Amino acid sequence: MLPPWSFMSFSTFGLSDKIIRAVTECGYTEPTPIQSQAIPAVLAGGDLLAGAQTGTGKTAGFTLPILHRLSDKNVKGSSGGRAPIRALILVPTRELAAQVEESVCNYGKYLKLNSMIMIGGVNINPQISRLRGRVDILVATPGRLLDHVQQKTLSLSQIEILVLDEADRMLDMGFIRDIKKILALLPKKRQNLLFSATFSDEIQALADNLLDKPALIEVARRNAIAEMVTHVVHPVDRGRKRELLAHLIKQHRWSQVLVFTRTKHGANKLAEYLTANNIPSLAIHGNKSQTARTRALAEFKTGSLQVLVATDIAARGIDISELPHVVNFELPNVPEDYVHRIGRTGRAGSEGDAVSLVCIDEHKLLTGIERLIKRELTSEVIAGFEPDPSIKAEPIKNGRGGPSAAPSARNKSRKQTNNQKPTGRKPAGFGGGRSTSRSSGGRGR
Ligand code: AMP
Repeated sequence: MLPPWSFMSFSTFGLSDKIIRAVTECGYTEPTPIQSQAIPAVLAGGDLLAGAQTGTGKTAGFTLPILHRLSDKNVKGSSGGRAPIRALILVPTRELAAQVEESVCNYGKYLKLNSMIMIGGVNINPQISRLRGRVDILVATPGRLLDHVQQKTLSLSQIEILVLDEADRMLDMGFIRDIKKILALLPKKRQNLLFSATFSDEIQALADNLLDKPALIEVARRNAIAEMVTHVVHPVDRGRKRELLAHLIKQHRWSQVLVFTRTKHGANKLAEYLTANNIPSLAIHGNKSQTARTRALAEFKTGSLQVLVATDIAARGIDISELPHVVNFELPNVPEDYVHRIGRTGRAGSEGDAVSLVCIDEHKLLTGIERLIKRELTSEVIAGFEPDPSIKAEPIKNGRGGPSAAPSARNKSRKQTNNQKPTGRKPAGFGGGRSTSRSSGGRGR
């Protein structure tokens, strides 16, 4: 089946031949809907507010025109000095930073532009050395970027283009203060691009502050989920979830499964259990070193690791083409996270399935998710794993013996998002935005 965007070609945008060549080598033949809309908008030089979730091809949507604009007007270092950093791409997580910088390298491989990744969790000194050389495009997470600013090893005074990627997640992670500090360091005259999968009032406020008469693009309905994904819920007792997961993986011979848990401790325990049951698994979460996270992700991507168990934050930015199976071992506390999790599968035209193991404690969470995505999820009891009707619901524990279901500090902003009634109205500022992606066709399954 051809993807629904198969009527355009990259050459229609006026991108340079070198960029087209690199894109062609990536195997892309047609632009995705977000690319069809974002590329001309960014090339035109104005600000952009884009509602697009991960998996839509948004990275190329902003990277390709940025590369074109920067290479079109090559800047030399003033009076023999170093050339300035001209584009800043801010992202919420290290994994996403790696992903985006890799895309910049791939799409810009025939251009004379240099990019750099700037993330925490690794030694700062090599980054300081790197900054002494030429860097045109900087892909950074906010915390480490501010470390450099404090150490006076970084100047952002000549940034021409700013991208806030996955802005909703940045706010969820409590980065708003850091973002404001960073914005204050940028020149007033610049192009701003804001990408977000969901739209809370906070995002709208940020957009109102940051953007000047932005072009509005929306390729996925608010909080929409990929239509290519099949969703199923398996009701099961809380004490039998891991057994059921091992059973499903073995029975269906799933070879590449991304599993979500609510806590870091839970991720570790589950990975240990699966490995002990001959299902090679590793956990990634915030307490793991960057090296361990990168290694686990690399093994998972190449297919040598069967199961990657992740917490929501750690999984952000994971991009594996055609990831077939995502399992919610536990439902997320915040319904929007279901959308983010499912964004890992059924990406850019491929199909996938999302399996949720739901125990009696999680019924409220399930209702919240169904309300958000405006769809009832199919429920299927697996023979041999029928829930015991005598088991009573218990409060959900977040973290090791932590308070039950209390919203954490980082979720404060999400509480607001959460409280918004899923009215289906367009986010303010998206007046004329038309849905054009596969995510909006209402092909519920
Ligand atoms: P993103 O939403 O930017 O994370 O991209 C999701 C996935 O889609 C990545 O694996 C990209 O390599 C892939 N992709 C991006 N643009 C295209 C395209 N025009 N055709 C096919 N795949 C694409």
